[in-house]
Amino acid sequence: MTETVSILLPIPAERPYTYSVPEGLHLAPGDFVTVPLGPREVAAVVWETPEGGGDKVDVAKLREVVARFDCPPLSVEMRRFVEWVSNYTLSAPGMVLRMVLRVKGGLDPLTPIEGWVYSGHDPERITPARGQVLELAREGMAWSKSGLAHAAGVSSAVISGLIKQGVLNRVEIPQPPVVAAPQVDFMLPKLNKDQAEAASALRQSVEAAKFSVSLLDGVTGSGKTEIYFEAIAACLEQGKQVLILLPEISLTSTFLKRFEKRFGSPPAEWHSDISPKLRERTWRQVALGEVQVVAGARSSLFLPFKDLGLIIVDEEHEQAYKQQDRVFYNARDMAVVRGHLGNAPVVLASATPSIESRVNGDLGRYEYLRLEARFGEAQLPDIEIIDMRRDAPPRGRFLSPVLITKIRETLERKEQALLFLNRRGYAPLTLCRVCGHRFQCNNCSTWLVEHRFRKQLQCHHCGHSEAVPEACPECGTLDHLVACGPGVERIGEEILELFPEARTIVLSSDMAGGVKRMRMEMEAIEQGEVDIVIGTQLVAKGHNFPLMTLVGVVDADLGLAHGDLRASERTFQLLSQVTGRAGRTGRKSLGLLQSYQPEHPVLKAICSGDRESFYEREIAARKSANLPPFGRLAGIIISADSKPQAEIHAKALRRTAPFLDGVNVLGPAEAPLSMIRGRFRYRILIQAQRNIDLQNWIRNWFSVAPKERGGVRVQVDIDPQSFM
Ligand code: ADP
Ligand code: ZN
Repeated sequence: MTETVSILLPIPAERPYTYSVPEGLHLAPGDFVTVPLGPREVAAVVWETPEGGGDKVDVAKLREVVARFDCPPLSVEMRRFVEWVSNYTLSAPGMVLRMVLRVKGGLDPLTPIEGWVYSGHDPERITPARGQVLELAREGMAWSKSGLAHAAGVSSAVISGLIKQGVLNRVEIPQPPVVAAPQVDFMLPKLNKDQAEAASALRQSVEAAKFSVSLLDGVTGSGKTEIYFEAIAACLEQGKQVLILLPEISLTSTFLKRFEKRFGSPPAEWHSDISPKLRERTWRQVALGEVQVVAGARSSLFLPFKDLGLIIVDEEHEQAYKQQDRVFYNARDMAVVRGHLGNAPVVLASATPSIESRVNGDLGRYEYLRLEARFGEAQLPDIEIIDMRRDAPPRGRFLSPVLITKIRETLERKEQALLFLNRRGYAPLTLCRVCGHRFQCNNCSTWLVEHRFRKQLQCHHCGHSEAVPEACPECGTLDHLVACGPGVERIGEEILELFPEARTIVLSSDMAGGVKRMRMEMEAIEQGEVDIVIGTQLVAKGHNFPLMTLVGVVDADLGLAHGDLRASERTFQLLSQVTGRAGRTGRKSLGLLQSYQPEHPVLKAICSGDRESFYEREIAARKSANLPPFGRLAGIIISADSKPQAEIHAKALRRTAPFLDGVNVLGPAEAPLSMIRGRFRYRILIQAQRNIDLQNWIRNWFSVAPKERGGVRVQVDIDPQSFM
């Protein structure tokens, strides 16, 4: 009788497929295999056969598994994790598995590298250079050719000569781990009392070696990193692996260096800027347990750790943890799930915890650890609001005289200033002064952003760009286009006029040179080689700029204008983070917020340093409106190539929504971003009581909903962060 097996493929199918097993191949759940799929062969994973059996297919027609990879199987805990994420996000399990299988090369053993060892025969003629090589080679170790030449201080021709004479024999040596093993007591920190208490609490959680969640809530500069390093040390002492999630990992060489200072070697990195070869090696060595610590972006949650003993989520409130396409998941929340399934402790760290985590902390669901003061001499900056109605800048300028004076004083003290504006480019809108024509993207319902340096108008949603024309395309008038509002480039221009002598840099993701360049610029700023930094949120996070004593927020109202459920929370977090860049090394520092609504409660809370009042008010507001975490939300996004198609489908979908007490269906309504990349978008918002199984309700709904036809697409976003 033919043996069959269930296989989960990285495709949008709801269930594993059944394949036949060739004679002699023994397969068990978790094994990585190659199977035929249509005309292709794909990597997939042997899965448990679903209850009630696999597909009811004619065994004679089954296709055969091609081969099993020589790779540790995907653990049962990872298999349950894939299913859990799939159930929660309402994505096909195969699409979640795809995130595990991204690195196909890692499934095969790494090619060994060539090494050379002493063969026992000496060369006929000994030169001084040869003597140096022999001295090293006789110790018995295998060397790479270049390594040996380098160590002996000879040219590689000398090595080649010895190889030819049979003095050195070729051997294969395994590829070394991408990073050296961390050393638990490489450099022990001197923690202050608050830090020591928090660290010992975390240590206990790690030593308990079971699932728990700790919320490490400490103001910017309180030394949270040093604290969770102690949790990492405790985990390494148990011989287990550690995952550290960081929101902007690719930009933060600082973090890697700090880690190296503490543990003697950096963690392995995992993010989209890692080269394919390095990704393969890292994936494989994580699976084999040869890499102990990974610092990565959200996708590192899907690495096949051999024995994961601790997950840290730094800046847990960050929106960057939410993936907004294909599988809509929040890595912070899924980290907690992964910890639960793998029975491992999880640490969430933030200076401005999300409302969700804060409530969990208050209710005792998470162990709540707090640090109220900065480490050492450092004081939090004084924060003041500049009332832009009173201290307005001149026409066409964006910096208030008050802010300019403070910048001047900062420069005189030879300190650094940061101007923060969360807007790339030169100006967010360009219009014709004569006819009023506004430059809009052809594919999206957005204005084109002027990038003056590149002489382009650019769409920040689809990437479309066009040259800035000389004449208005509508009325043909020459030279009458005006830029409306500021982006960072324009602030840069204003600063250049005001402070031509100062060393100024504009930092945004538009900077040419990518991640490498960005890391270098950040280092230059840390070294004090820049006087004025003008930047988007890239500079807001995680950096330590020792001389930074003034932070000016060009438009503190910007985030509040959105008006979505998280506008207040995000503004509070972002402004706290940005102003938190100031005064991290004991110098007196100042944060200035330019605002046209200085009496806004969020700005007032930041100003008074009274974060408790912010949390209290925000939590009360969420509670009374039944919003997360007190109620549940799901966004449904319906898109199509034409507006009527999208609208008709959205309405038809809405009509089939089952009635259930405690579930509210709002919409459909045209999305605020009504077109992206040529697709028209509608949204439905589902609001439910916390005790309702929202996923189940949606599943029932979709089982009776009209099918998506003719390019219509329906996406579900559980716990949406964006409502655009
Ligand atoms: P947070 O992550 O809470 O913003 P950090 O961990 O970055 O704070 O610490 C802020 C600064 O204080 C850093 O420059 C860090 O090196 C320093 N620091 C924190 N704790 C210690 C310590 N125990 N000993 C020496 N320096 C410390
Ligand atoms: Zn566009």
